[in-house]
Amino acid sequence: MEADEVRDVASLARTFFTQSVLPHQERFAEQHRVDAFTWQEAGRLGLLLPSVPEDLGGGGGTFAHEAAVLWEQGRTGDDSLAYAIHSTIVPHYLVQFGTPEQQRLLPQLAAGELVGAIAMTEPDAGSDLKMIRTTARKAEDGWVLNGSKTFITNGSMAGVILVVARTGGPGSKGLSLFAVETKDLEGFSYGKPLRKIGQQGQDTRELFFDDVSLPVGALVGDEGAAFAYLMQQLPQERLAIAIGAVAQAELAVELAIERARQREAFGATLWDLPSVRHEVAACATDVLRTRTFLDHCIEEHGEGRLDSPLAAQIKLASTEMLSSVADRCLQVFGGYGYILDYPIARIFAGARVQRIYGGANEVMKEVIARAM
Ligand SMILES: Cc1cc2nc3c(=O)[nH]c(=O)nc-3n(C[C@H](O)[C@H](O)[C@H](O)COP(=O)(O)OP(=O)(O)OC[C@H]3O[C@@H](n4cnc5c(N)ncnc54)[C@H](O)[C@@H]3O)c2cc1C
Repeated sequence: MEADEVRDVASLARTFFTQSVLPHQERFAEQHRVDAFTWQEAGRLGLLLPSVPEDLGGGGGTFAHEAAVLWEQGRTGDDSLAYAIHSTIVPHYLVQFGTPEQQRLLPQLAAGELVGAIAMTEPDAGSDLKMIRTTARKAEDGWVLNGSKTFITNGSMAGVILVVARTGGPGSKGLSLFAVETKDLEGFSYGKPLRKIGQQGQDTRELFFDDVSLPVGALVGDEGAAFAYLMQQLPQERLAIAIGAVAQAELAVELAIERARQREAFGATLWDLPSVRHEVAACATDVLRTRTFLDHCIEEHGEGRLDSPLAAQIKLASTEMLSSVADRCLQVFGGYGYILDYPIARIFAGARVQRIYGGANEVMKEVIARAM
């Protein structure tokens, strides 16, 4: 029953990305964001927040439904819709820790009428979030937010941003989480789109908070608990990155096979050259090995057993594998692989950042080592 539903979601997602996203990819890259309508279309099809309970406005499914959409996005080669941030990450903070008032945002997120973002990183606080300097000071009727964030995905499109800010002393216990609604919000602004080497269609910005007044009810959960909340949610975020990475690597191999079989050289095709087909065969093996590990992690997550070290292992393994496979499959395309009109070039460019965001892979190794 659930398997049928997941298959239906996957099929819908495949159609959505193929018909409503991929044909516009070049324009999204030029404007550094998708259209507002793209989110609404995803919402109309029921693809957003599929694992949020129905009574809170979501699809009432499980992580398997979420994984199906993430997989299809990677498999079709889209990297412009920041689906994981909007659907797999942001809503779950509100489900787990939000007040009923904050949870009223969930149906709007599910409909794609409101876009979600999460703002942790700052110019001087990336891997080490304990260095966050953005402050939220208690005022008579709420909070006053001051500071800046950088590299924030969905930065200009977001109607709600989960902002990590300092409400107490130094270190992780002084950090709190706020649900900041941006509509007509005085003192809030964002910078120009950051010019990235890949994932060009994503809306990645600096954010600025200048004496921004927030209501008392903007605090998510308990004061001083943001770091603990992040640690709790990060395994699911890292698993989401891994799903996309393995799906993109599978697509890279498929594209390389197709290209090698078509491209004629030396009186035959590239596929007839043992060095070419053996390299692609090795790539396919790398992908299958990681996919098997990924399936195990998805299953563990379904049983509530995906802990931080295991999530770090699949994030590390999948993103390193994607970088290597994308590079080797690009080689099969020769010079064409370097041209952004070819999906393989976009996979290659978009792979690089996956070893950095969601926790740099060196940090993943530390998380894994600490548990040994
Ligand atoms: C396209 C893009 C989208 C992003 N989206 C978001 C978003 O939506 N929200 C958000 O909050 N952030 C976002 N980020 C930020 C991202 O999470 C950070 O870039 C990442 O956490 C690394 O922080 P940093 O860039 O400050 O690098 P630094 O912390 O300066 O680290 C630089 C390098 O130092 C090494 N290093 C750091 N710490 C350790 C350690 N403990 N052990 C060993 N080596 C280490 C690693 O090699 C690391 O790559 C995004 C970034 C990009 C590029």
